[in-house]
Amino acid sequence: MAVPKSKITRSKGGMRRAHQALTAANPAECPNCGELKRPHHVCPSCGHYAEREVVAIANEIDFDDEDAA
Ligand SMILES: [Zn+2]
Repeated sequence: MAVPKSKITRSKGGMRRAHQALTAANPAECPNCGELKRPHHVCPSCGHYAEREVVAIANEIDFDDEDAA
């Protein structure tokens, strides 16, 4: 196994990690429901994309209903 010849200083490690920052998401408003959504993605709250419904959203799922299981 390759072994590092010398210790990486805090300075050099910091220089490497200077490029590891995450960039924030750029949410856009859904033209149908106004909820914030990711650009170029189907709206998770209303299922619309490009102002038409492409995914049907279930109105209500009762997970607490004991009879369903
Ligand atoms: Zn929407």
